[in-house]
Amino acid sequence: MYKNHIATETIIVGAGFAGLSTAYHLAKKGIKSIVLEKEKLPGTHASGRNAGLLLQKAERNEVEELLTESRLFYETIASAIDFRQVGSVIATNEIEERPNISRHLYTPEKVISLYPFIDKKFLTNLTFIYTPSDGVIDSGTLLEFYRRNFLELGGKLELYKKVVEITYNNGWNVVTDKKQSFQAPLLVNAAGAWANEIASLIPIPPLKIKPFKRHLFILKGISVSNNAPFFWNFSTNYYFRDESGDLLFSMCDEELTNNLDETPSEHIENKLSEFIEKELPTLSSSLLKKSWACYRTKSPDNNFVIGWDNYQKEFFWVAALGGHGMGASFAIGKLAAEAIKTYSSPSPFTPSRLR
Ligand SMILES: Cc1cc2nc3c(=O)[nH]c(=O)nc-3n(C[C@H](O)[C@H](O)[C@H](O)COP(=O)(O)OP(=O)(O)OC[C@H]3O[C@@H](n4cnc5c(N)ncnc54)[C@H](O)[C@@H]3O)c2cc1C
Repeated sequence: MYKNHIATETIIVGAGFAGLSTAYHLAKKGIKSIVLEKEKLPGTHASGRNAGLLLQKAERNEVEELLTESRLFYETIASAIDFRQVGSVIATNEIEERPNISRHLYTPEKVISLYPFIDKKFLTNLTFIYTPSDGVIDSGTLLEFYRRNFLELGGKLELYKKVVEITYNNGWNVVTDKKQSFQAPLLVNAAGAWANEIASLIPIPPLKIKPFKRHLFILKGISVSNNAPFFWNFSTNYYFRDESGDLLFSMCDEELTNNLDETPSEHIENKLSEFIEKELPTLSSSLLKKSWACYRTKSPDNNFVIGWDNYQKEFFWVAALGGHGMGASFAIGKLAAEAIKTYSSPSPFTPSRLR
């Protein structure tokens, strides 16, 4: 038998940005929830291992709108979440209109003055867009903001509780590996890279979303000013920013793996050396201080999944947040909570498009 039974209005699986922001916004609307997290701490996976960039540029306009809505909120609590609005510089071949965001063009000389280790010959035929309202956020602090406010509003967070069994019979019964069971009329799937694994427990058909492994590196012996904008080269796909006097670097790698193992992949250091040799040779002498990996879960149309399942009633998805789940988290949770309260599915994000 199960140890105890706990009832609430909403059960949320996953204490990353998807789960905790949704829980926070539901609590603000007076809807009670319990968040179940399999790890000892919230943000153990993508939400605690990302690059912390708020970049208001995405593959989809709808995602860009959520990023800007979130940014406007973060500006109101900037010091509480350590939001350093240093801006971004994007190197690109394409310029599209962004009427709602102030942006300026930088010259190659200005770019070199900010990042002297980039050789000018790698910047030919590119345009440089400086967006002052972008910036860097401390992911852990932002996640803690949602967690603390959710708990203060009466929410419950159950850590070290892996969901292993789910049944629906005029309401959900969710059982954890600790043999505890939780009941609620609504269930929210905010399990990140494991979202389809949660769907398989019901069972319902998976969505066409996939987790891709990506690495981050800390390079020692090279730095940019901590007030310098972060830099993203969209043409050759890499980005970097200051990390306490070192350089946080990504070569925007994407790997489909058989399991969701977050240890750095074999030969990744060789791939990094080859990449740097080719794109940023001046950095070849820098030392690799640290590397890690996590998963970006993406849909084929690069849009988020926020909405009710079309097979299983009372089952809501907040998933496939790709590379924007931290930056857009405030507006993602707000939209999810509103859709849950009103029983609607925001149309560009509906799960049914992915079956
Ligand atoms: C290398 C890298 C860099 C990134 N950089 C940025 C960036 O600069 N800016 C940005 O906005 N975004 C960035 N992202 C993306 C961002 O990190 C993600 O979009 C976001 O963290 C996803 O949040 P999530 O809550 O959906 O997933 P997660 O953070 O993975 O949370 C899901 C949670 O569900 C839990 N869970 C899973 N299964 C179960 C179960 N059975 N029972 C209980 N709990 C379960 C997991 O333990 C996990 O804690 C980056 C991602 C990567 C990989």
